[in-house]
Amino acid sequence: MTQQMTQKKKLVVATTSLAGCFGCHMSFLDIDEKILELIEIVDFSKSPINDIKEFNQICDVGLVEGGCCNSENVRVLREFRKNCKTLIAVGQCAITGGLPAMRNGISLKEIFTEVYLNGQTLHNKLIPNDEEIPMILDRVYPCHEIVKIDAYLPGCAPRAELFWEALIAIAEGKKLEFLNYDSFKYD
Ligand code: SF4
Repeated sequence: MTQQMTQKKKLVVATTSLAGCFGCHMSFLDIDEKILELIEIVDFSKSPINDIKEFNQICDVGLVEGGCCNSENVRVLREFRKNCKTLIAVGQCAITGGLPAMRNGISLKEIFTEVYLNGQTLHNKLIPNDEEIPMILDRVYPCHEIVKIDAYLPGCAPRAELFWEALIAIAEGKKLEFLNYDSFKYD
């Protein structure tokens, strides 16, 4: 880390998991001892990492894991777009819909019937309809189909170094054009 970078204002970063498994967040935290350097260049705003629930300022970077499978995902994603100068789709679920999008070829009626009415272990065969439950969408949408996305970190989950390189690049005012195929990880 350069002296020049330590003198700069810290990057304010927000993160969220929409229709994801938190594996991308786990990978982010897997930067090992670099996490000590990270806290010198980054302040977290709204994020499950610090459990801050609301945006307390406009953020430099928003890291979004997961696509949108329900109305709450869409609301949160739009909130991130509004409050983050650079919005980054992190991982294949955010970029393509990923594993949750495997339901996209099946009708909602068929899914609800199989899950809530035909399930062999169910006690109450009812389709949940409480108004507090977010409305499920007709399919799982990748983030770029809902809001403008500025950059993508591919992988499932993206390698820890990729998060690190992306945040360092933004902190140094560079464009995120450094990715090459060797940076990607799918396992
Ligand atoms: Fe989990 Fe992979 Fe999706 Fe990240 S991209 S949320 S690790 S399934």
